[in-house]
Amino acid sequence: MGTVYAIANQKGGVGKTTTAVNVAACVAEAGYPTVLVDVDPQANATVGLGLPKTGSPSVYDVLAGRANATDALVATGIPNLRLLPANPDLAAANMELPREPGSETRLRDALAGLRDEAAFVLLDCPPSLGPLTVNALVAADRVIVPVQTEYFALEGLAGLLETLTLIQRELNPRLAVSGFLLTMHDGRTRLARDVEREVREHFPELVFDTVIPRNVRIGESPSFGRPVIHHDPHCAGADAYFELAKEVAARG
Ligand code: ADP
Ligand code: MG
Repeated sequence: MGTVYAIANQKGGVGKTTTAVNVAACVAEAGYPTVLVDVDPQANATVGLGLPKTGSPSVYDVLAGRANATDALVATGIPNLRLLPANPDLAAANMELPREPGSETRLRDALAGLRDEAAFVLLDCPPSLGPLTVNALVAADRVIVPVQTEYFALEGLAGLLETLTLIQRELNPRLAVSGFLLTMHDGRTRLARDVEREVREHFPELVFDTVIPRNVRIGESPSFGRPVIHHDPHCAGADAYFELAKEVAARG
């Protein structure tokens, strides 16, 4: 029975997609059958794995009940890793879902069968707390929250935690925080060190020991359509994501 992880933070550009793609690639590399679900209409995870964002069926068709999740999975060229792709049509779901009462559980119901097919199911969320992210958090057992080690890092985390508490109470009591992940960390700057200290003080025990460094190879790997662990398996960014994946798996 697989575990479903949502990678969420309503801020954009904090490393959600990078983390979803690379944790998925690392657990797949370790031999676990893995599915990455691209829940963002921007389809960055889809493109970052070298697949077109015009493909169908997509997660939008799965949400609308026009396609079965298992049938919509595509091979990524990486052993053990399959993708449920996004395409820009998915943006319409932000309008359509709220019109239908009870639609918060739509993704959970649609993905239920994937738990039998994969040990790890990762959901890459869009940068908002809108209907798609709510659907992902209702479908998930765990949430990983990437936090960029920049000045406004903590801003918005209170809102995210409120949303998590509400979802736990009303819709998904199983949901737990897997961890906060410090990303794009530049250890040479005092700001990054200060932000790290502050986040660890605010959320003792919730922050992963592993910190993802700012790393050129991570930044360029999506343009090659592959995870950094395949783009440059021995760079500091790849090492960090391998370590993180071990921590995620160990936290269960
Ligand atoms: P989000 O999904 O939260 O919007 P992304 O994962 O797409 O964030 O990251 C935003 C941008 O920063 C992307 O261009 C990505 O390639 C780059 N990036 C992410 N993590 C790193 C890192 N550790 N070092 C360098 N660049 C990074
Ligand atoms: Mg993204």
